[in-house]
Amino acid sequence: SADEPILQVEGLQVGYGRVDAVRGVSFEVPAGALVTLVGANGAGKTSILNAVAGLLRPRRGTIRFRGTDVTRWPAHKMVRAGVAQVPEGREILATLTVAENLALGGWHRGRTRARNVAAMYERFPVLHERRALPAGTLSGGEQQMLAIARALIAEPAVLLLDEPSMGLAPKIVDDVFAVIEQIRATGTTVVLVEQNARRALAAADYGYVLETGEITHSGPADQLLADERVIEAYLGIE
Ligand code: ATP
Repeated sequence: SADEPILQVEGLQVGYGRVDAVRGVSFEVPAGALVTLVGANGAGKTSILNAVAGLLRPRRGTIRFRGTDVTRWPAHKMVRAGVAQVPEGREILATLTVAENLALGGWHRGRTRARNVAAMYERFPVLHERRALPAGTLSGGEQQMLAIARALIAEPAVLLLDEPSMGLAPKIVDDVFAVIEQIRATGTTVVLVEQNARRALAAADYGYVLETGEITHSGPADQLLADERVIEAYLGIE
Protein backbone atom coordinates (compact mmCIF):
# COMPACT_ATOMS: atom_id res chain seq x y z
CA SER A 1 0.00 0.00 0.00
CA ALA A 2 1.01 3.63 -0.38
CA ASP A 3 1.83 4.18 3.28
CA GLU A 4 3.69 0.91 3.79
CA PRO A 5 7.21 1.60 5.07
CA ILE A 6 9.91 1.09 2.44
CA LEU A 7 12.01 -0.78 5.02
CA GLN A 8 10.79 -2.85 7.96
CA VAL A 9 13.07 -4.60 10.40
CA GLU A 10 11.50 -6.95 12.91
CA GLY A 11 13.07 -8.81 15.81
CA LEU A 12 16.57 -8.54 14.37
CA GLN A 13 19.26 -10.48 16.20
CA VAL A 14 22.90 -10.38 15.17
CA GLY A 15 25.72 -12.17 16.94
CA TYR A 16 29.38 -12.95 16.57
CA GLY A 17 30.26 -16.19 18.30
CA ARG A 18 29.22 -15.67 21.90
CA VAL A 19 28.68 -11.93 21.49
CA ASP A 20 25.04 -10.85 21.10
CA ALA A 21 25.49 -7.58 19.25
CA VAL A 22 21.83 -6.93 18.35
CA ARG A 23 19.14 -8.37 20.60
CA GLY A 24 15.79 -8.19 18.92
CA VAL A 25 15.64 -4.80 17.24
CA SER A 26 12.60 -3.60 15.32
CA PHE A 27 12.23 -0.38 13.37
CA GLU A 28 10.48 1.04 10.34
CA VAL A 29 11.55 3.50 7.70
CA PRO A 30 8.82 5.38 5.82
CA ALA A 31 9.58 6.00 2.15
CA GLY A 32 11.35 9.33 1.68
CA ALA A 33 12.15 9.76 5.37
CA LEU A 34 15.44 10.30 7.11
CA VAL A 35 15.63 7.85 9.99
CA THR A 36 18.56 7.78 12.37
CA LEU A 37 19.88 5.07 14.68
CA VAL A 38 21.96 6.64 17.40
CA GLY A 39 23.91 5.17 20.28
CA ALA A 40 27.32 4.79 21.80
CA ASN A 41 30.27 2.98 20.33
CA GLY A 42 29.48 -0.76 20.31
CA ALA A 43 25.69 -0.36 20.70
CA GLY A 44 25.13 -2.44 17.56
CA LYS A 45 24.48 0.22 14.93
CA THR A 46 26.95 -1.07 12.33
CA SER A 47 25.76 -4.65 12.84
CA ILE A 48 22.18 -3.56 12.06
CA LEU A 49 23.20 -1.69 8.90
CA ASN A 50 25.37 -4.58 7.72
CA ALA A 51 22.48 -6.99 8.21
CA VAL A 52 20.14 -4.74 6.22
CA ALA A 53 22.78 -4.32 3.48
CA GLY A 54 23.09 -8.10 3.15
CA LEU A 55 26.69 -8.12 4.37
CA LEU A 56 25.98 -10.34 7.34
CA ARG A 57 23.36 -12.91 8.21
CA PRO A 58 21.13 -12.20 11.15
CA ARG A 59 20.53 -14.98 13.66
CA ARG A 60 16.87 -14.12 13.79
CA GLY A 61 14.41 -11.60 12.56
CA THR A 62 13.00 -10.32 9.31
CA ILE A 63 14.04 -7.53 6.98
CA ARG A 64 11.46 -6.36 4.47
CA PHE A 65 12.14 -4.00 1.60
CA ARG A 66 9.02 -2.72 -0.21
CA GLY A 67 7.10 -5.52 1.46
CA THR A 68 9.40 -8.29 0.18
CA ASP A 69 11.29 -10.48 2.64
CA VAL A 70 14.96 -9.77 1.82
CA THR A 71 16.42 -11.17 5.04
CA ARG A 72 18.80 -13.59 3.35
CA TRP A 73 19.57 -11.59 0.23
CA PRO A 74 23.27 -11.03 -0.45
CA ALA A 75 24.65 -7.51 -0.75
CA HIS A 76 24.83 -7.38 -4.55
CA LYS A 77 21.17 -8.33 -4.78
CA MET A 78 20.25 -5.63 -2.26
CA VAL A 79 22.14 -3.01 -4.28
CA ARG A 80 20.37 -4.10 -7.45
CA ALA A 81 17.02 -3.92 -5.66
CA GLY A 82 17.76 -0.38 -4.50
CA VAL A 83 19.53 -0.45 -1.13
CA ALA A 84 23.09 0.92 -1.10
CA GLN A 85 25.45 1.41 1.81
CA VAL A 86 28.16 3.92 2.60
CA PRO A 87 30.29 1.81 4.92
CA GLU A 88 31.85 2.83 8.21
CA GLY A 89 35.35 4.15 7.54
CA ARG A 90 34.36 4.88 3.91
CA GLU A 91 36.36 2.00 2.40
CA ILE A 92 37.75 4.11 -0.38
CA LEU A 93 40.38 2.29 -2.48
CA ALA A 94 43.30 4.62 -1.85
CA THR A 95 45.51 3.64 -4.78
CA LEU A 96 42.72 3.77 -7.36
CA THR A 97 41.75 7.12 -8.83
CA VAL A 98 38.61 8.98 -7.84
CA ALA A 99 37.10 8.05 -11.23
CA GLU A 100 37.90 4.36 -10.69
CA ASN A 101 36.36 4.42 -7.22
CA LEU A 102 33.21 5.96 -8.67
CA ALA A 103 33.09 3.36 -11.43
CA LEU A 104 32.97 0.66 -8.76
CA GLY A 105 29.69 2.12 -7.53
CA GLY A 106 27.91 0.96 -10.66
CA TRP A 107 29.57 -2.41 -10.67
CA HIS A 108 26.78 -4.22 -8.84
CA ARG A 109 24.35 -3.09 -11.46
CA GLY A 110 26.52 -4.63 -14.16
CA ARG A 111 27.53 -1.32 -15.66
CA THR A 112 28.34 2.23 -14.73
CA ARG A 113 26.19 4.63 -16.63
CA ALA A 114 28.21 7.60 -17.86
CA ARG A 115 25.27 9.83 -17.13
CA ASN A 116 25.24 8.80 -13.47
CA VAL A 117 28.95 9.52 -13.16
CA ALA A 118 28.43 12.90 -14.81
CA ALA A 119 25.62 13.65 -12.38
CA MET A 120 27.92 12.90 -9.44
CA TYR A 121 30.64 15.18 -10.81
CA GLU A 122 28.04 17.90 -11.13
CA ARG A 123 26.89 17.37 -7.58
CA PHE A 124 30.42 17.10 -6.18
CA PRO A 125 32.63 19.40 -8.31
CA VAL A 126 35.65 18.65 -6.12
CA LEU A 127 35.48 15.00 -7.23
CA HIS A 128 35.53 16.14 -10.86
CA GLU A 129 38.56 18.32 -10.19
CA ARG A 130 40.36 15.42 -8.56
CA ARG A 131 39.04 12.61 -10.77
CA ALA A 132 42.47 11.51 -12.06
CA LEU A 133 44.15 11.52 -8.64
CA PRO A 134 44.54 8.53 -6.32
CA ALA A 135 41.63 8.63 -3.88
CA GLY A 136 44.09 8.33 -0.99
CA THR A 137 45.28 11.88 -1.69
CA LEU A 138 41.83 13.34 -0.90
CA SER A 139 41.05 14.90 2.48
CA GLY A 140 38.83 13.01 4.92
CA GLY A 141 35.80 15.08 3.95
CA GLU A 142 36.44 14.59 0.24
CA GLN A 143 36.80 10.84 0.78
CA GLN A 144 33.45 10.82 2.56
CA MET A 145 31.88 12.67 -0.41
CA LEU A 146 33.45 10.07 -2.72
CA ALA A 147 32.03 7.21 -0.65
CA ILE A 148 28.59 8.83 -0.77
CA ALA A 149 28.83 9.50 -4.52
CA ARG A 150 29.96 5.91 -5.13
CA ALA A 151 26.82 4.63 -3.39
CA LEU A 152 24.54 7.11 -5.18
CA ILE A 153 25.78 5.93 -8.60
CA ALA A 154 23.66 2.83 -8.09
CA GLU A 155 20.58 5.12 -7.83
CA PRO A 156 19.38 3.59 -4.57
CA ALA A 157 15.89 4.10 -3.20
CA VAL A 158 17.38 3.66 0.28
CA LEU A 159 20.82 4.92 1.26
CA LEU A 160 22.41 3.43 4.40
CA LEU A 161 24.99 5.79 5.90
CA ASP A 162 27.33 4.48 8.59
CA GLU A 163 28.91 7.21 10.72
CA PRO A 164 29.55 9.68 7.91
CA SER A 165 30.82 12.34 10.33
CA MET A 166 33.45 10.09 11.92
CA GLY A 167 36.87 11.69 12.23
CA LEU A 168 35.93 14.89 10.41
CA ALA A 169 36.47 18.48 11.55
CA PRO A 170 33.27 20.32 12.62
CA LYS A 171 33.19 22.49 9.49
CA ILE A 172 33.43 19.37 7.29
CA VAL A 173 30.75 17.64 9.37
CA ASP A 174 28.48 20.58 8.42
CA ASP A 175 29.24 19.92 4.74
CA VAL A 176 28.47 16.21 5.10
CA PHE A 177 25.15 16.91 6.82
CA ALA A 178 24.26 19.44 4.11
CA VAL A 179 24.86 16.71 1.50
CA ILE A 180 22.71 14.25 3.47
CA GLU A 181 19.85 16.76 3.56
CA GLN A 182 20.21 17.33 -0.20
CA ILE A 183 20.04 13.59 -0.83
CA ARG A 184 16.89 13.34 1.21
CA ALA A 185 15.44 16.36 -0.60
CA THR A 186 15.72 14.45 -3.89
CA GLY A 187 13.39 11.78 -2.49
CA THR A 188 15.98 9.18 -1.48
CA THR A 189 15.18 7.45 1.80
CA VAL A 190 18.09 7.72 4.25
CA VAL A 191 19.00 5.50 7.20
CA LEU A 192 21.71 7.29 9.14
CA VAL A 193 23.79 5.64 11.86
CA GLU A 194 25.63 8.11 14.08
CA GLN A 195 27.45 8.47 17.37
CA ASN A 196 26.87 12.20 16.96
CA ALA A 197 23.32 11.81 18.26
CA ARG A 198 22.40 15.45 18.64
CA ARG A 199 23.46 16.26 15.11
CA ALA A 200 21.81 13.20 13.58
CA LEU A 201 18.51 13.78 15.44
CA ALA A 202 18.49 17.41 14.34
CA ALA A 203 18.59 16.25 10.70
CA ALA A 204 16.22 13.27 11.03
CA ASP A 205 12.46 12.74 10.92
CA TYR A 206 12.51 9.73 13.23
CA GLY A 207 15.09 8.39 15.62
CA TYR A 208 15.89 5.18 17.43
CA VAL A 209 18.24 5.17 20.39
CA LEU A 210 20.24 1.97 20.83
CA GLU A 211 21.95 0.70 23.92
CA THR A 212 23.84 -2.61 24.01
CA GLY A 213 21.90 -4.10 21.15
CA GLU A 214 18.44 -2.91 22.16
CA ILE A 215 16.27 0.06 21.32
CA THR A 216 15.63 2.10 24.47
CA HIS A 217 13.84 5.12 22.97
CA SER A 218 12.21 5.90 19.66
CA GLY A 219 9.97 8.51 18.13
CA PRO A 220 9.91 11.67 16.07
CA ALA A 221 13.45 13.06 16.15
CA ASP A 222 12.40 16.45 17.52
CA GLN A 223 10.65 14.76 20.44
CA LEU A 224 13.75 12.69 21.23
CA LEU A 225 15.85 15.85 21.13
CA ALA A 226 13.46 17.46 23.62
CA ASP A 227 13.34 14.41 25.90
CA GLU A 228 15.35 15.06 29.06
CA ARG A 229 16.01 11.35 29.64
CA VAL A 230 17.46 10.96 26.16
CA ILE A 231 19.52 14.10 26.55
CA GLU A 232 20.93 13.00 29.88
CA ALA A 233 21.67 9.43 28.92
CA TYR A 234 22.90 9.80 25.37
CA LEU A 235 23.49 13.32 24.27
CA GLY A 236 25.50 14.69 27.16
CA ILE A 237 25.54 18.27 28.31
CA GLU A 238 26.87 20.84 25.90
P1 ATP B 1 30.77 1.32 16.32
O1 ATP B 1 30.42 2.74 16.38
O2 ATP B 1 32.03 0.98 17.05
O3 ATP B 1 30.73 0.71 14.96
P2 ATP B 1 28.27 0.08 16.72
O4 ATP B 1 27.18 0.67 17.51
O5 ATP B 1 28.17 0.21 15.26
O6 ATP B 1 29.65 0.61 17.20
P3 ATP B 1 28.75 -2.69 16.28
O7 ATP B 1 29.96 -2.39 15.50
O8 ATP B 1 27.56 -3.19 15.58
O9 ATP B 1 28.34 -1.42 17.15
O10 ATP B 1 29.14 -3.70 17.43
C1 ATP B 1 28.20 -4.24 18.37
C2 ATP B 1 28.88 -5.26 19.27
O11 ATP B 1 29.32 -6.37 18.50
C3 ATP B 1 30.11 -4.75 19.98
O12 ATP B 1 30.14 -5.34 21.27
C4 ATP B 1 31.26 -5.25 19.15
O13 ATP B 1 32.40 -5.41 19.91
C5 ATP B 1 30.71 -6.56 18.63
N1 ATP B 1 31.25 -6.91 17.31
C6 ATP B 1 31.10 -6.20 16.17
N2 ATP B 1 31.68 -6.81 15.12
C7 ATP B 1 32.23 -7.95 15.61
C8 ATP B 1 32.96 -9.03 15.04
N3 ATP B 1 33.24 -9.06 13.75
N4 ATP B 1 33.36 -10.03 15.87
C9 ATP B 1 33.05 -10.01 17.18
N5 ATP B 1 32.37 -9.03 17.78
C10 ATP B 1 31.95 -8.02 17.03
